[in-house]
Amino acid sequence: MNTLIRRKGHNLTQLFWMKAIITPSILFLSLPSYSGDISVDPMQHSPIPAQVTPMFVSLGFDDNLDVDGMSWVLRLLGSNKNPDGADAFANSSLKASFFMHCGPARGNDDVLTKWRQAHSEGHDIGNHTETHPDDKVNWNPLESWMTIEQWQQEITQCNELLMASEAQGGVGLASVSGYRAPFLTYNDNTFRALSDNHIQYDVSLPAGNTPEHDGTNNYWPYTLHNGSPEHDIGVNNGWKPPLSNYPNLWEIPLHTLIVPPDNEMDRYGLAYSLRDKIASRVPWFDAISGKGDNFDWNLYFEPAWGAAGLNENDVLAIYKYNLDLRLSGNKSPLVLGLHSGFYGYQNGQEHFGMPESTVESRRRVLEKFTEYALSKPEVRFVSHKQLVDWMEEPEPLTLCSTSEWDAHKAYKKGDGVTYMGEQYQAAWWTMQQIPGLYENSPWKSLDACTPEQ
Ligand SMILES: [Zn+2]
Repeated sequence: MNTLIRRKGHNLTQLFWMKAIITPSILFLSLPSYSGDISVDPMQHSPIPAQVTPMFVSLGFDDNLDVDGMSWVLRLLGSNKNPDGADAFANSSLKASFFMHCGPARGNDDVLTKWRQAHSEGHDIGNHTETHPDDKVNWNPLESWMTIEQWQQEITQCNELLMASEAQGGVGLASVSGYRAPFLTYNDNTFRALSDNHIQYDVSLPAGNTPEHDGTNNYWPYTLHNGSPEHDIGVNNGWKPPLSNYPNLWEIPLHTLIVPPDNEMDRYGLAYSLRDKIASRVPWFDAISGKGDNFDWNLYFEPAWGAAGLNENDVLAIYKYNLDLRLSGNKSPLVLGLHSGFYGYQNGQEHFGMPESTVESRRRVLEKFTEYALSKPEVRFVSHKQLVDWMEEPEPLTLCSTSEWDAHKAYKKGDGVTYMGEQYQAAWWTMQQIPGLYENSPWKSLDACTPEQ
């Protein structure tokens, strides 16, 4: 812990570069950490060098009132593991975030049992309000009907259910960290209620609309101490109300997903223009930038309802392409908006309104995407809460070293070498010490490391 950086307003990255010493093979890091006030500006780069930054994939599921869908999602997450490595997320089962629509779950033991299971398996349980209100009048986002007291109630009541003990019919959380707005509709009253209820992060604002953002250079999570440039685009264009500043409240950007361009269709296994397909169905889709919606609702539902009505190959191509863009760029986290209910049957029946997909085909999309992502050694599936905590105290990947130990070379703490086919990392400054020779050696043997890409 460095006392220098507890002050408000420090820029994480500057601090990092002041403290990092880079060697060709491995990075020695003295990491920034925070206690107390946090201000992180929107940045187009990781708080630590991209080379040692994990490629985070963070799934967020809304509503969660369907037991079959939620059971399936929990099985998928629990039966897969992050790739091997020396960091805290490596080799652990996948974690995600679940935003709960609380009202209908009260007294529903089947649903509450699933929510408690998700909590006990280490997933992040967030607030999606008590009654799922749509605070718009005649679909006008600038006109609202809810008072500040009503917003306070929506957030407080849902928090109370999530934090009540199991004996009292709750989920038993010690605190609630995250929030997603129903219909992504919010205003200043919403954010005041979040702030008053000590919510740590929101994941509801528009993101990726900045014209120069192309999927390789998106924003990392930031705090709302000085507003949001992405939200301000909406304010300036008259489709979002202005917001006050909220120090210490994180915003996780849920970026627009970029539909693969025509010259990439082969690579993603499609024989037609996906941009043309969506443009023929969604009037506001921009086929030039290819920027489309993120939520599974918008991808799968009926074109008659303003969605794209896509099939499993289309959606899988979009998910893979957006992961690949990030991997080739600044590794900004891939955050996906989902509904666990779409991955299960409703009373044994298919969902209506999703013309080109079925429960089974939508499940295959998540299975195949997970498999694809986990084939990349630097990918880590984390909950939104884990992502924000990582932003506050970033832990680098431990990259595998490619250089042999050299008896004549001095090594600093954190340097890596190979010796007799094993990976070692220096625990402190060392020279002329043969790795692995004796106990309490400066050379720590690594069970696992992340291959450099
Ligand atoms: Zn919802």
